[in-house]
Amino acid sequence: MDLIYEGKAKKLFTTENPSELRMVFKDDATAFNGEKKASFADKGRLNKQLSLHLYELLEREGVATHFVRDDGPESLIVRRVEIVAIEVVIRNLIAGSLKKRTGLPEGQRLRQPLIECYYKSDALGDPLINDEHIRELNLARGDELEKIKRSALKVNRILTIFFAKAGLTLVDFKLEYGRLFPDKHNIVLADEVSPDTCRLWDTETGKKLDKDRFRQDLGDVMEGYSEVLTRVQNVLNTPS
Ligand code: UDP
Repeated sequence: MDLIYEGKAKKLFTTENPSELRMVFKDDATAFNGEKKASFADKGRLNKQLSLHLYELLEREGVATHFVRDDGPESLIVRRVEIVAIEVVIRNLIAGSLKKRTGLPEGQRLRQPLIECYYKSDALGDPLINDEHIRELNLARGDELEKIKRSALKVNRILTIFFAKAGLTLVDFKLEYGRLFPDKHNIVLADEVSPDTCRLWDTETGKKLDKDRFRQDLGDVMEGYSEVLTRVQNVLNTPS
């Protein structure tokens, strides 16, 4: 089937069903707006598997997503969407660019989850934007933005509790939303949810188990991802 999109970490192919696509997770990793690049054996499979478990969890908890079904080691079948050009970041603890912007110490817990929106534009380097910029740029209608924020906070509540059971602290994460084809009335969670897009720290030791191992040259990048997957699977296999 035809390749319709190739991003930094994923490829999208058409399927025999016009409203569904095949999302293939690549072994490539990039950071700092594509300036830093590497490839890690098995990353595609690990991220696919984690995204699959997390999408199934979110769907069970009533979050509307683009997920349809599993499709082999590195791919998922997803609903076709028109991606909203906003990266929604939810933060629970200070890290990354928020540490730089506020001067607050890494690891300090925020008083309440914080939502940020970034303009999804490689040419502009994904700048931080507010609701008024979103309105001016016509990136989403007011009611769509409200839905997106409500959903993102719900995802945060679900994932925070779930990862805590795995001994992991969900520090922050990035979500993308899309409008479902063909009528584009419904907004659903799209893209991936994986250690590429989440900061996850071991709750006991504070050890980083996500893409910061790559960004900060900490080594053992895939060992971190694989540890996250093992713990997630242990929680899912433990009767509640
Ligand atoms: N993030 C992402 N893609 C991006 C930028 C950020 O998935 O293009 C995720 C990142 O993994 C982290 C959260 O969003 O979990 C917040 O990232 P931050 O703004 O701190 O930027 P960074 O330090 O990643 O440059």
